Amino acid sequence: MASSIRVGLALIFLINAVTLGSNPDKEPLQCQTPPSIMLHSDFGAWRMNKLAEQIIADGYITMTYRQVRELWDQGSCAPDNALLVSIDDLSGAWLRSTFVDMIDAFLEHELVLTLGIVSVTPDVSTQDPEIWDYFKQIDKQGIEIASHSTHHFCPTWLSQEELEVEFYDSHDLICEYLGRCPETLILPFGNGWDDPNVIETASHRFKTIVSIVAPLYYSGEPLLMKRMPPPGEIGELKTFLNKHFLPPNNLQIGVNEVNHRKIWKNNKRHSNGEICIE
Ligand SMILES: [Zn+2]
Repeated sequence: MASSIRVGLALIFLINAVTLGSNPDKEPLQCQTPPSIMLHSDFGAWRMNKLAEQIIADGYITMTYRQVRELWDQGSCAPDNALLVSIDDLSGAWLRSTFVDMIDAFLEHELVLTLGIVSVTPDVSTQDPEIWDYFKQIDKQGIEIASHSTHHFCPTWLSQEELEVEFYDSHDLICEYLGRCPETLILPFGNGWDDPNVIETASHRFKTIVSIVAPLYYSGEPLLMKRMPPPGEIGELKTFLNKHFLPPNNLQIGVNEVNHRKIWKNNKRHSNGEICIE
């Protein structure tokens, strides 16, 4: 299992070195966001298996947000065939078997992904050491454990004090139970990506902020990353991702970003159908 992941990392390192060589003046980087998919437990293990097979058939290399960030820190963008997959709404207090089956489907295909952990759920708040042992085990296998906030509240509705509870406490809980601090925050509902205070507060604990609606490129501190729900037909994966992540030119990036901001402001709804109810 680990050997293929190592091959992928070696390839990434090679591409990284080439990119560094082409950027000797160390100008500020602006990278195109790799195709990125957001999943929840309803996606299920059967489709996760199909997705893994399609990812391999399409020639993608899966990466975690932490790996993309490590490349960024070295002055490189993610390779052209990188693909980011994340699963949201896991917990260290309870764990659906579907989540484990979905993660297994990727590991069995030697693929990696990122998990968004919510610290406290309404019905169960006590952390389960056995679940954290499982998270430690898959962390060692290349799966990234990211924060998905403390309570999954809409960040833009919170006071500064409440926002710090959501971001700082969830960060510290993962540090404590995983023994390794998270570097990535997945925003609940993708909410707050265009709110300077939300991003500023998050940047005190996290290097990468993952949303849903966001620009098609990443640059600066922290990195801000766009995602999409999965395609309806797994066989359409590459066509779907090319449509949503490959802008035809830089001008188009700007137009798309403005349109997305307008939609977000008007509806408070993200493309997965979840709403921050006001
Ligand atoms: Zn969520």
